[in-house]
Amino acid sequence: MSIVQVALDVPLPRLFDYLLDIGAAPEIGRCVSVPFGSGQKIGLILGITRSSDQPSEKLKQVSQVLDNFPLLPKDWLALCEFCARYYQHPLGEVVHFALPPLLRRGKLPRAVKDKRTTIETASPKPRLLPEQQAAVDAIIAARGFETFLLHGITGSGKTEVYLHAIDALLQAGKQALMLVPEIALTPQLEQRVAARFPSARIVSAHSGVANAARSRAFLDALEGRADIVLGTRLAVFMPLPRLGLIVIDEEHDGSFKQQEGLRYSARDVAIFRAKQMNVPIVLGSATPALETFHHARSGRYRLLELSQRAVAESLPTVSTIDTRREKLQGGMSQALLNAIRTRLERHEQSLIFLNRRGYAPVLACPACGWISHCRRCAANLVLHLVDKRLRCHHCGIEAGIPHHCPDCGNLDIHPFGRGTQRLEQSLGEHFPTARILRVDRDSADSPKKWRALLDTIHAGDAEIIVGTQMLAKGHDFPKLTLVGVVGADTALFAADFRAPERLFSQLMQVGGRSGRAELHGQVLIQTEYPDHPLYRALADHDYARFAAAQLKEREQAGFPPFTHQAMLRADAPAMAQSIAFLEQARSVANEKANTAPAINIYDPVPMRLSRLANRERAQLLVESPNRPLLQNFLAAWTRTIRVLKTPRDLRWHVDVDPMEF
Ligand code: ADP
Ligand code: ZN
Ligand code: ZN
Repeated sequence: MSIVQVALDVPLPRLFDYLLDIGAAPEIGRCVSVPFGSGQKIGLILGITRSSDQPSEKLKQVSQVLDNFPLLPKDWLALCEFCARYYQHPLGEVVHFALPPLLRRGKLPRAVKDKRTTIETASPKPRLLPEQQAAVDAIIAARGFETFLLHGITGSGKTEVYLHAIDALLQAGKQALMLVPEIALTPQLEQRVAARFPSARIVSAHSGVANAARSRAFLDALEGRADIVLGTRLAVFMPLPRLGLIVIDEEHDGSFKQQEGLRYSARDVAIFRAKQMNVPIVLGSATPALETFHHARSGRYRLLELSQRAVAESLPTVSTIDTRREKLQGGMSQALLNAIRTRLERHEQSLIFLNRRGYAPVLACPACGWISHCRRCAANLVLHLVDKRLRCHHCGIEAGIPHHCPDCGNLDIHPFGRGTQRLEQSLGEHFPTARILRVDRDSADSPKKWRALLDTIHAGDAEIIVGTQMLAKGHDFPKLTLVGVVGADTALFAADFRAPERLFSQLMQVGGRSGRAELHGQVLIQTEYPDHPLYRALADHDYARFAAAQLKEREQAGFPPFTHQAMLRADAPAMAQSIAFLEQARSVANEKANTAPAINIYDPVPMRLSRLANRERAQLLVESPNRPLLQNFLAAWTRTIRVLKTPRDLRWHVDVDPMEF
């Protein structure tokens, strides 16, 4: 008899001991089925031992060894262990999360015929420009682990650099892992990659892939049959025995950080992985995360620059429209309306970017001051006129539109502010014969509708497009020559210190949609702060200047990347409960932090969205300039917090390197 230590999907930071009889050889990385509570659970053997803390008569037997399952490799297990440790998350839950859905339940997908690309000849490889060639050479020449930042605007040929580097790897018999921020971007990338490598086996991993296919992709990767794995953040957990290169495109994108459960950053986990497997990793972006740029400046990452567009000759002209002394018409200035009219006359496309969906952010009564608010959240209900509903964008609750003010009976209640639906309506009034298309999460709420909208734009069947940031990423619209930006100013003065960084990257990205072919592009930003340094830097296409200024501010204020942060968050039916728990956690933290003076512990405060779906939310920030110290502190602290007595309906979690405040 041996004793095996099994990782199970339970919210406890420990393994569970079971007896394994002589008939089966215990192997680390083997899937087993074990009795747990009143049922059975699937788990993974992570340790083998002779003795247990439990008296042996209490130990239960492994019910079944799933030896038709492939053994999970050591480096994959080490990756899970790293995530558990770094993100203070129970290992069993990490393992469960990292496995694809079928395998979690102890099921294997049916074998299917090898489905290779039907394309016979590879799409032509363009001759690289000197900067591209230098980047490819540097990546290929890397001996083992090295982090590269490939910095280049949209259209500068970053994807070509990835493809050339991947090509070299495939020829050396290695596997490549490539992550992109959005599911919506995977099909076109898949096509481009498949066209370039017709004989390579490419698998995709993202939440849009059906369970069986995702499990098959996992097994293909694990057993070395897949050459290229493409996917969103969860693809970072694909096992790859012949891994030779990792690429993270749009590395700055917020979607690489998971905001629930295991709160991991796929970019950071990928860097760990590259180091663990001793392979190069390429982070690509037009507007790198300030953390990444900081490392590139300090020499920790190697900076590779692409300074010009690969095909189109020129960058769009970016300028501001000063709206301080103008009465706007439906939210738009005369200059913007004129620019749209010119595009209509020339049969070119315009995109008006407003990052707020719905008709209006709130419905209000001017007589008594009533506003439409969500009864479950500390947020307003957004007016949606298309389907005549009020809707909470945080918890999803809906209501009909009242005929009169629910408080005072006033019949004259008004929408306040402007969302994409209202902008679409105003544009319709100004340009009654134009074909106007709205693209946001309401109009593109399924992949099918999203594709149909993109097709409409490509076919030239839309003259004016109103869109949110959905449209900002990765799409080529050859006839688009004008991008108008409205309602962006609010982000300049947001309380979140990352808001300017996000705004800059969003505007740079959406501006990059214009003028990608022969036609010159123009970006017009409506603003009451035309001289704001952020807009000035945008007009000069000068990311480095913007980033340097931001980093200076961050350094002075002591924000990341000059400090490391973790957040303890709690939510409960009453705010007092959440705060009391955090106070308690802080007092035990203070005891521990006394021995670690470099740890800074702040006061518990309500979160900005203080109530969400009837839960009152609060948080406590912990900071340190020293990451290993912070890590050690967090490990000891969470162990103590776990044994605190808490109200039964209170939930808490730790978020390491939080992006949300
Ligand atoms: P990015 O990923 O930086 O947005 P891409 O790699 O997609 O840029 O390149 C933009 C466009 O330019 C694509 O149509 C691509 O095929 C083309 N392109 C890139 N590099 C070259 C090159 N060296 N020669 C010709 N065309 C190129
Ligand atoms: Zn009223
Ligand atoms: Zn709500």
